[in-house]
Amino acid sequence: MRLARLATFALGIICFFLPFTTVSCSGVRVLTLSGRQLVTGTEIEVPAGFGQAKTERVDPEPLALLAFFSLMGGLGLSLSRARTAAGTSAAAGGLACLFLLASKSRLTSELSKQAGGLIQISFEPGFYLALIFSLLAASLSAYVLFSEGKRTPLPLSSNGQGYKFCTQCGSRNSIANLFCEECGTQFG
Ligand SMILES: [Zn+2]
Repeated sequence: MRLARLATFALGIICFFLPFTTVSCSGVRVLTLSGRQLVTGTEIEVPAGFGQAKTERVDPEPLALLAFFSLMGGLGLSLSRARTAAGTSAAAGGLACLFLLASKSRLTSELSKQAGGLIQISFEPGFYLALIFSLLAASLSAYVLFSEGKRTPLPLSSNGQGYKFCTQCGSRNSIANLFCEECGTQFG
């Protein structure tokens, strides 16, 4: 489950290197931007007549950047076994989804404002994959949070069998352990 969570966050991040969005002008494709180019901004060459190309700056899209950071944060949190981290990484995955959707609607409305319908923007599989993996990562983390919430760990004192259970991750430890073997939490 932890690996699945790590993988979905990592795949969501990898999707940022795939094409996210294509801008076309009267049906002709002008440019395709990857998620990374949306995050950092980029420079594009636009044909300006007489065979010349002028360079135009594409500004970084702050909402795409926030989505990217949410996924990075979720990935980092998935490395931890603690339940609180599962909750936060679920939120990070959910935020990544929201930021992706918000940046999609912002880009769409910005462009239609600028060019009065001449320019169309469409979204590529990379964008939808990033969205799907963010959603998946959020659901897996939420699942971890709720399924492990039901498993009530026993108190750290001896339960008569020479074991004690970690309050952070619920794993079974020898009574002699000073730290949890799974997550490293110090037993008080
Ligand atoms: Zn533990």
